[in-house]
Amino acid sequence: MSVQIHKYDVVIVGAGLAGLAAARELQRAGKKVAVLTKLHPLRSHSGAAQGGVNAALSEDDDIELHMFDTVKGSDYLADQDAVELMCSKAPETIRWIANAGAAFSRNEDGTIAQRPFGGQSKPRACYAKDRTGLTLLQTIYEQADRENVTFFDEWYVADIIYEDGVVKGVVAYNIRDLEPAIFNAKAVMFATGGYARAFKISSNAHANTGDGLSIVARHGLPLEDMEFVQFHPTGLAGSGILISEAARGEGGRLYNSLGERFMEKYAPEKMELAPRDVVSRAITKEILEGRGVGPNKDAVAIDLTHLGEKIIMERLPELRDLAITFLGQDMIKEPIHIAATAHYSMGGIPVDIDGHVKKNPNEIVRGFYAAGECACVSVHGANRLGANSLLEALFFGRHVGKHIIEDLESNKLELCDAKESDADRMLNEIKFCMNNNGTESVPKLRSELQESMTANAGVFRTEETLLKQRKILKELRERYKNIRIDDKSKIFNTDLQEAIEFGHMLDYATFIVEGAIARKESRGAHYREDYTKRDDENFLKHTFATMNEDGSINIEYGDVKLGKFEPQERTY
Ligand SMILES: Cc1cc2nc3c(=O)[nH]c(=O)nc-3n(C[C@H](O)[C@H](O)[C@H](O)COP(=O)(O)OP(=O)(O)OC[C@H]3O[C@@H](n4cnc5c(N)ncnc54)[C@H](O)[C@@H]3O)c2cc1C
Repeated sequence: MSVQIHKYDVVIVGAGLAGLAAARELQRAGKKVAVLTKLHPLRSHSGAAQGGVNAALSEDDDIELHMFDTVKGSDYLADQDAVELMCSKAPETIRWIANAGAAFSRNEDGTIAQRPFGGQSKPRACYAKDRTGLTLLQTIYEQADRENVTFFDEWYVADIIYEDGVVKGVVAYNIRDLEPAIFNAKAVMFATGGYARAFKISSNAHANTGDGLSIVARHGLPLEDMEFVQFHPTGLAGSGILISEAARGEGGRLYNSLGERFMEKYAPEKMELAPRDVVSRAITKEILEGRGVGPNKDAVAIDLTHLGEKIIMERLPELRDLAITFLGQDMIKEPIHIAATAHYSMGGIPVDIDGHVKKNPNEIVRGFYAAGECACVSVHGANRLGANSLLEALFFGRHVGKHIIEDLESNKLELCDAKESDADRMLNEIKFCMNNNGTESVPKLRSELQESMTANAGVFRTEETLLKQRKILKELRERYKNIRIDDKSKIFNTDLQEAIEFGHMLDYATFIVEGAIARKESRGAHYREDYTKRDDENFLKHTFATMNEDGSINIEYGDVKLGKFEPQERTY
């Protein structure tokens, strides 16, 4: 099969906020850019974000306080230089996107309205009702389109071309007809989003299968801090579909089956507005100790009825619709049932503050960049605060785009020619999935992965559950070699895509579990019942893990960039 080779200055994988913000900057600077995305850009998960995007905008807030809240929220694992850069540029980022057309909700005096979010000292989340992500995504897509960015919608990127420490491009196929192609470029940027789909109860879109991370890891490059997966406190009971933190921000109260407002026990000062890790553990504990509500007693109740119909319809209309559609519960009339749901991934592809992908804690890969949720820069450390992620994707997407322009103009990057055989790995992967005549079904293996990850590597972890999960992953890996897909056609073959995606899920889930086994402490979202304390002496450091051919993992550690905020005990 002949493989077409396209040539660009820059190829960006992913058309969420991070990818689009970078693409627009590059195209405006006259660079030849292609954006590849497996979904239509407006279906990227950024569009599902409801609650808000942070910036210290108001007079009684300040940037240093935003920095402090972020570092404390991160359980001191965030790199403070990156936090300082992001928080100090947040007001400018909001003004930029508002001027570009994002219709934020406003106060009566015309200023941008801001709502309180967990772990923040001030109301800091700018919002557009409860459709903030969609508003931002539509705005930035329109802007990128207006600059004539070239989009390859519904193209699946399956590999990078990485040789001699340089990334030369990506290998992809058209989902429509399986046509393969190489996109040869001076610079490649990954903006492939999050990966909480490895868990059964998850707020993430079906597409969030962490492809970008595994593609990178399969070349022996490291992933950073993968053990830190955020569980959001309020997913709808049973499905995990998100009820945004805006519900707690606007005044939602949590109750157990005894009618107790149980956050009094866990975070007496901040109550429901303690950070996500704290509230998720509280909810899960109430359920595990038998004080859950609902037919399966696997949820707790969030009560918003005291807000009244007017406020709910004005500020939380989408959340109300979701709860009616999926649970038949109307938050205007009654409390709705929620439980913790896998939501966000703090770890990812390690990058420096300008988005260069790291080969190890001290060296970078030439021609390779990443931003947004797939990257670990690390502004969130061990736990992200709500509304800091849209900010990260928007700010770092744009910032990294500008840096690629600088690197191109100072001639640090050149086009290293790709050859047809660079597509072989992808073609072999496709051939395996299409022709393998085994007995295992991918959806079944995927359910087993998701169920076991939620049970053994979820909100609470112990050596015992994690070792059990290590064994399950090893078995699933073996069984994956024995899959069979039914659809053998070339047209929109979703069986094939799901089989490839499941391979990625297996790889990055292994990083999550191995990182969690090695980190014998509790920090932020990583909670070990057998090591309940944070251990700064041994673990105030970033995990850098690499994968061997046989799927085993090596772990080394890198320094955390500390700064003006000294690690303290984290209480709320
Ligand atoms: C339900 C929900 C609500 C949220 N609410 C908030 C909030 O209120 N505030 C906040 O700050 N954060 C929120 N978050 C988090 C935030 O939305 C995300 O972290 C952020 O939008 C990620 O943006 P991104 O550009 O990195 O990736 P995404 O928007 O996820 O985009 C990823 C892109 O990568 C592409 N892609 C992936 N793999 C491939 C491949 N193999 N080939 C080709 N293309 C590929 C996809 O097509 C997509 O275009 C929420 C998340 C969820 C799930």
